[in-house]
Order: sequence, then structure tokens, then C-alpha cells
Amino acid sequence: MASFAGADTPVEWSAPELIEGDILVEQSHKRRSIALPANVQLWVDGIVPFAIDPALSEASVAAIETAVEHWNRASGVTLLPLQQWGGGAATPADSILFQPGPGCASWVGRRGGVQEIWVASNCAAGSVMHEIGHALGLEHEHTRPDRDQFITIHWDNIDPEKRHNFNIADAGSRVLGEYDYSSIMHYGPNNFTLNGKPTITPLVGSADTIGQRRSPSPGDLAAIANLYASDLSVVTHVYTDGQSSEATIQVSNDHAQGAHTIELSVTFGEGRLLGHSDNGWQCSSADSGRVSCLLERLPASSSSILVLDLDRRLAVEELTAVVSSKTPDDNPGNNADKSGNPAPALAAASAVEDPLAPVFSTSLNGGAATWLLFVLALLLFYRQSGCRVDGQASDRIE
Ligand SMILES: [Zn+2]
Repeated sequence: MASFAGADTPVEWSAPELIEGDILVEQSHKRRSIALPANVQLWVDGIVPFAIDPALSEASVAAIETAVEHWNRASGVTLLPLQQWGGGAATPADSILFQPGPGCASWVGRRGGVQEIWVASNCAAGSVMHEIGHALGLEHEHTRPDRDQFITIHWDNIDPEKRHNFNIADAGSRVLGEYDYSSIMHYGPNNFTLNGKPTITPLVGSADTIGQRRSPSPGDLAAIANLYASDLSVVTHVYTDGQSSEATIQVSNDHAQGAHTIELSVTFGEGRLLGHSDNGWQCSSADSGRVSCLLERLPASSSSILVLDLDRRLAVEELTAVVSSKTPDDNPGNNADKSGNPAPALAAASAVEDPLAPVFSTSLNGGAATWLLFVLALLLFYRQSGCRVDGQASDRIE
């Protein structure tokens, strides 16, 4: 097992080591006992802050930028340069630092604090994409527990020092999707060969189907979408007052993973937007009857309410709100509210007009019915006993 510190360099307590050729681990964890895939930490709200060490060559910086741009375009996560947190915003606690190193290497998942991705001079954009795949939480495809159904490992052709790189992942590892020969996380056919002969051959297809470093495969992107999915939903209410209306749109994320770049598209028929609440929402100047608003993030298990002030009386059925985000949504069925809802306060007021008769016969549950019967009995008791109930003299008997 190689040490990045090198044989003639003092090894610091924190110096990471490599497993599987390019995965950084703490020295105390180098035997894969960390079970990272099972416990992998994801990036909060799917946003990955990063910085590039100025010591890197122009070619390496270009490779990193290409890799970052590809992941940002193709997937639901976003790698954001740390410079974007300027203007008084607190620097994120966790981030990636692309820096020079003796190879291409990364930690698996979010480690906490600043974590390295090593970019040696021979790491092309595709290799950097592979390392970013590790940092997002992916391990090597050929170490999946089911790999022996799909590939043959030729142990005799592997440098004995490197054989650990071909061990199957620990029990408890998560497997996302079908085995994927085209994964950018798969080793090539000759990695760590001792004698020039193949170390891995696929059981189906030719050797050149494994080890590509061009771009994340559809399977890689599906795995990331699975890991970083959220569940947004939207509920609207309309309050009217004379000739104006107030529409409240509640967007919720009912998932343990946060979402980012949330877009809310609202239509409200004929009418004009007079203003909107802030709460982090940035709304574009509306065409007549339509407004589009953006929210940077919606953390796990949280809600945000946008209030729109409109210049006319709005019928509830005129309001439509649709929410989307860059983050994949694993339940898109609740992302639109196309009818609007009467304001809860109005619904309560109308119930007061006809308090008992229909309610008793239809929708009261046992607890509420018991409570109402108790109140009626109490009123009857006071009436019969001559009690007077008011705020000042409830304890007086006349
Ligand atoms: Zn790797």
C-alpha cells in the first residue's frame, strides 16, 4: 500500500494513505474497515464548495474546470467556487481543495472540513471527474459485492502489492442500480498489471467496455441522483380582501437531503403583482399574470413560504404554482398545486355560520363530538342552575 508521504519523508499523524490506487483514507482506516459506502456523508443540500490551489499548472486547472463544469451540467449536484461566498457570507465549513499531489486521488464522500483532491500533472479532465465521483460518495464499481457475476479478476496478473485494490467492498456497502461496465468509477482492464496481461475482464462484451474516463455514465448520474434526491411539494392558499388578494405559496422539502436552486413558477390569471415577501425568494419582474421566483436552498425537512400581493380579487382556481429544483426530486407528483385552496381562516369562518347540525352528522370524530357534547351539557347546567358566565363575574351566583 503506497504512502503519499513517501519512504524518506516523515509521516505526519494526519497524512492520508491510498487504497484502490486513488482513494484517500486516514492511516488508521486504511484496511477499508471504514465501510464508507454505507455511512458516506453527503454534501449538504447538494452543494459542493471548492477551491483550486494556485500552485496547480494551467493544464491541471483547465482539467478541473472541465470536470466541474461537466458534473454541474449533467447532474443534480453543484460544485461552487468558494469565491461565491464573498460579500459577508460565512465561508462553508466543508469544501474541496484541488491541489498538486503524487497521483489523482480523493476521499470518498464529504469528510468534514477542507478535504483534498490530488491532481497530478497527468490527471486529465476525465480522471478529475472520477475523483469528483469519489468526493460525491461513489466507490469503485469493480468492488461491488455482486461484481463476480459481471467481471473476472485475474489475481495472478496483479502486482501483489496492489491486490487489495481489487477486494470486494465491505458488507453493508450500498449498491445503486445495475452493475455498470461503462461507469467512470470502473477500473480499466490492465490497471495494476504485473505482467502486461489483463487484471479485469468483463464476462459480457469486450475489454474496452470498462475503464472509460470520458464522462460519468448514465448509471453514475442515476446513482448520484439517488443519493442527492429531495422531495419538494407545494401548497397554495388565496386570501381576498376587497379588490386585492394575497396568495401564500408554501414550498416544503419532506426529505432527509436538502435541495438547491429551487424555482417556483406561479400563474394567477389576469392581474398584476404588487409585491412579494422576501424569505430568501428572488422574484423576476412578472409578466401580467405570471411570476417566477428562485430560492437558493431548501434544507432537509423544512418549508419556506412566499407571499404574493396581487392587485385584484382572485378566485382560488386561478392560482397555479409549480416548484422544481436542480436537485432530483424522487416524488414529482406533489410539485404542483393547480387549484389553489381557500384560505384556512375563511373556511373556519364559514363553519361558524352553521355550527352544529351538519357537522355532527358527517365529519366529527369521536373526540370532537364528545367535547361538543360536554360543552352543551355545561351550557345546560349553567342555564338550569342560574350561573352567569362572563369574564368579570364567573364565580358569582345571582
Ligand atoms: Zn478511484
